[in-house]
Amino acid sequence: MRWRKGRRSSNIEDRRGQGPGRARGRGGAGIKLGGGAGIIVLLLGMFLGVDLSGLLGGGGSSSVGLPQLTNKPAGQIKSDDESTQFVSTMLAYNEDVWTKLFAEANQQYRPAKLVIFDGGVNSACGFTSSAAGPFYCPGDYQIYIDLNFFRELQRMGAGGDFAQAYVLAHEVGHHIQNLLGVSMAVQRRQRSVSKIEANQLSVRAELQADCYAGVWAHHAHKDNQLLEPGDLEEGMNAAAKIGDDALMSAAGARVRPEAFTHGSSKQRQEWLYRGLESGDPQQCDTFAS
Ligand SMILES: [Zn+2]
Repeated sequence: MRWRKGRRSSNIEDRRGQGPGRARGRGGAGIKLGGGAGIIVLLLGMFLGVDLSGLLGGGGSSSVGLPQLTNKPAGQIKSDDESTQFVSTMLAYNEDVWTKLFAEANQQYRPAKLVIFDGGVNSACGFTSSAAGPFYCPGDYQIYIDLNFFRELQRMGAGGDFAQAYVLAHEVGHHIQNLLGVSMAVQRRQRSVSKIEANQLSVRAELQADCYAGVWAHHAHKDNQLLEPGDLEEGMNAAAKIGDDALMSAAGARVRPEAFTHGSSKQRQEWLYRGLESGDPQQCDTFAS
């Protein structure tokens, strides 16, 4: 990706080195990154997986409105390493694209804040360990990421800058769903159906976030020539590696489609590609099919 000259978002809060607050031990293994294959599988098994469980865990009443826009300055960036530069630039590209697309629909885009943490973090969705992977909390309109996750992605064969961009854009996709009221509708529905049906709703929501990630990449490239040869392959490869079937197989488990919460490798690739190709959020209606 050609990203180094891009604007960097100020909607970043750096909580690294701060500790999560009252992060009661959840088994130390889950919290520490950089372990062996078991941890990688754990990480990937949960990759992007807490988004909707966060929804279920509350953090937002049914009357929750848009977040108050405060003028609180973004937290001081503690380490201006390449990953930090990368995510703040990608966040800015997401802001630019969604501001444009919302404006085209006569809507105003409210950006999400990105919280960088290490170890574990407290949010409106409760305490979350780094082992759960990056996530979006609808209750506070924030994306949470431990940047060490990118190393884990690479170790599992889903490396590359566009794979990382896809991860972030997927989380922004959940923010879009939250702004559009999809998250709340899904949450409500999930409460009144069986576990299997709730999983199917989760899959549809996750695939929509993948599609939105593709829509973002389409426009980011169209407007800024962001992508280079090989980037699309990185994204499609990552989508395959994090399909539920691939994760279950990698963990040595039997593949059980009824337990899918994010979609199969094939589905994740298809919806990412659909967004990428069309650049049209209307093409992302995973709930219709
Ligand atoms: Zn997700």
